[in-house]
Amino acid sequence: MTAAAAARSILTRLHEVMAARSHAQAKLNQVVEIIGESLSSEVCSIYLLREGMLELFATRGLNQSAVHVTRLGVGEGLTGTIAQNIETLNLDEAATHPEFQYRPETGEEKFHSFAGVPIVRRARSVGVLTVQHVEPRRYEEVEIEALQTVAMVLAELIHNAGLVDDEALGERSEAQSGQQTIEGLQLVKGLAMGQAVFHQPRVQIEQTVAEDTEAERQRVFLAFDKMREQIDSMTGQAEFGVGGEHEQVLETYKMFAYDEGWARRINEAIDSGLTAEAAIERVQQRTRMRMREISDPLLADRMHDLEDLANRLIRIVSGQLGTAASAGLRGDAVLIAKNLGPAELLEYDRRRLKAVVLEEGSLTAHVVIVARAMGVPVIGRLRNLRGLVREGDTLLVDGDAATLTLRPQPSVEEAFEARLARSREKRAAYAKLRDVEPVSRDGKRITIMMNAGLREDVATVAVAGGDGIGLFRTEFQFLVSPVLPARERQTRLYREVLEAAGSKPVIFRTVDVGGDKSLPYLSSEASNNDENPAMGWRALRLSLERDGLLKVQARALLEAAAGKDLHVMFPMVSEPWEFLEAREVFEGQLAFLKKQKHSLPQSIRYGVMLEVPALAEMLDELLPQISFISIGTNDLTQFLFAADRANPLLAARYDWLSPSIMRFLARVVETVSRHGETTGHNVDLGVCGEMGGRRLEALALIGLGITRLSITPAAIGPIKELVRQVDTREIGEAMRGWLASPPANLRQALSDWARGHDIEIE
Ligand code: PEP
Ligand code: MG
Repeated sequence: MTAAAAARSILTRLHEVMAARSHAQAKLNQVVEIIGESLSSEVCSIYLLREGMLELFATRGLNQSAVHVTRLGVGEGLTGTIAQNIETLNLDEAATHPEFQYRPETGEEKFHSFAGVPIVRRARSVGVLTVQHVEPRRYEEVEIEALQTVAMVLAELIHNAGLVDDEALGERSEAQSGQQTIEGLQLVKGLAMGQAVFHQPRVQIEQTVAEDTEAERQRVFLAFDKMREQIDSMTGQAEFGVGGEHEQVLETYKMFAYDEGWARRINEAIDSGLTAEAAIERVQQRTRMRMREISDPLLADRMHDLEDLANRLIRIVSGQLGTAASAGLRGDAVLIAKNLGPAELLEYDRRRLKAVVLEEGSLTAHVVIVARAMGVPVIGRLRNLRGLVREGDTLLVDGDAATLTLRPQPSVEEAFEARLARSREKRAAYAKLRDVEPVSRDGKRITIMMNAGLREDVATVAVAGGDGIGLFRTEFQFLVSPVLPARERQTRLYREVLEAAGSKPVIFRTVDVGGDKSLPYLSSEASNNDENPAMGWRALRLSLERDGLLKVQARALLEAAAGKDLHVMFPMVSEPWEFLEAREVFEGQLAFLKKQKHSLPQSIRYGVMLEVPALAEMLDELLPQISFISIGTNDLTQFLFAADRANPLLAARYDWLSPSIMRFLARVVETVSRHGETTGHNVDLGVCGEMGGRRLEALALIGLGITRLSITPAAIGPIKELVRQVDTREIGEAMRGWLASPPANLRQALSDWARGHDIEIE
């Protein structure tokens, strides 16, 4: 008999038992009879974990008086060893195993051979199923396979009957209990507390025994097809690539997705009588058991990928495709994911989403920028996060220290709550700085603007107390929309933003999509196969080619700004002609509106983002054409260092405060100001990258002579406070010294200097 046939004949009989309306204990008693008979074993027993001990729940062949009396610790005896290691034992002579323990009340001395398999639920042992024989012979491989399949069905029966209390019965692995603090990479500062919510919830398998095997085979076949399609279309999709290393991961995914062996094993499990979901899980369990024996970190990583893929397959097959966002957050939540795209994050309810913790992630990935804009703390690079946390665990997120505390003890939680209260007070104090002018000690007025892009930001403009919006990322509207936003919708948003800003300027950046901000409705062959999306077909490159997109946006902006001042900024300009061409698109629309006698903006000022280093070499050509420049340090630094801003492996490698970046910026400042002095045409220069919102980095930028910063709204208070503590001449002089002969560690030198000048940098 094959393993499948052996399991199947047992499962058919078990199916009837499980469907019957009898009591759980009666069902277990029947189960041990069925298995014992089918495997011609004198003994069959079921041990279940209760209050941390493995208790004999049902037996055929051992003394009935031992039922609910014999109890073993996890790790104790053969049964305890199976549960602890989640491993199968198959012995011709039980007594020769070093862990063997003799329990006289069971009367098991007459049985020689022994086999046992763990009963596993969600990758954790909840019990053990054993068979014993008088005759000393090992069980056949097919019999062991059948036992394992049966154990899986038993796990369902036990759970449904409420025989194992999920909390007490070791549902948690050792790694998932007790307080624990893990350290990651700081992505967005801030404190938060909430319940763990998995972005991709684990599917609960409702039914393990199949009614119709052929139908189950068909379901898996279709699910494989769909999964392969998904994996194929992920190639080149930046949203997936945010994690860096993505090519390697993708390759592994592909390898697994097309692995005939995997598909075959799942089909064999279906043949043994399991449903499609249970079969996938069954194969996954077997793989987990095998992998546990190999301690190779590289393989462990790959195992992680396979888990990911198996979960995806189960989600597809069961039709439970939604993320936690579609189910809705019920309370204060800390979202857990391997990685997220910006659009995925935006689907969450902002009132309930308190923090995000990622296994990957990097400082300038757009998902992180969006989180920062939402005021949601983020910690990245938390290894094995999903293995350590369980849905619903209380989590304390300390985005300042980049630590995550799981399942805190009450005293720790109380202390954290006190810190949360203090930080709220501090924020209130910053809010009081709203009307305070950011004037330095030597009387220099620094312009502090905010970065925005979400509809909700409109409400923040007034309260943030900045000098306007220095970067409005128009693509956010495109990212949250399932289809290309119509012109009217764009106009409405821009108008609302301008109204909210009142007399303060708003710099609208035309769409910067592509890179890690991919739009499904705007994908093309070219972008899908972009091996390096950050340097690929994105931003202005895409807009100029698809100029319909830019024309529509130009019209929307021109109409929205009727009677007002319009500031338009183009992203990723690499050569002056790109700017000229983009401006041409706007001028064309302006001429059209003029002809139609529409009311027009009072003034239009054009500017560029300086984020591609090549443009810095062409400033003499470009400056006469433009009104302002904003340095996008997020992209600029990735290109200067040739270090993908979304690659977590590089996230902490290069410092924004490196002499190379500082020297580069100093040259730009110098070129722009010399141009103003010699021609009388003053081009307004500012920085709108994330670094401007950090105190030490802002201090350095002011030292370089930057007088306009556009930053995340939450940083406005702290940066205003910083400006008021600084003498710009003093930091300017110090900076010139460091740039002439760079210290070993510029960050260190700068913070020592700040401390010596009574400037708070934290
Ligand atoms: C930048 O690159 O620094 C920037 C501000 O733009 P974004 O982060 O949207 O690419
Ligand atoms: Mg950029």
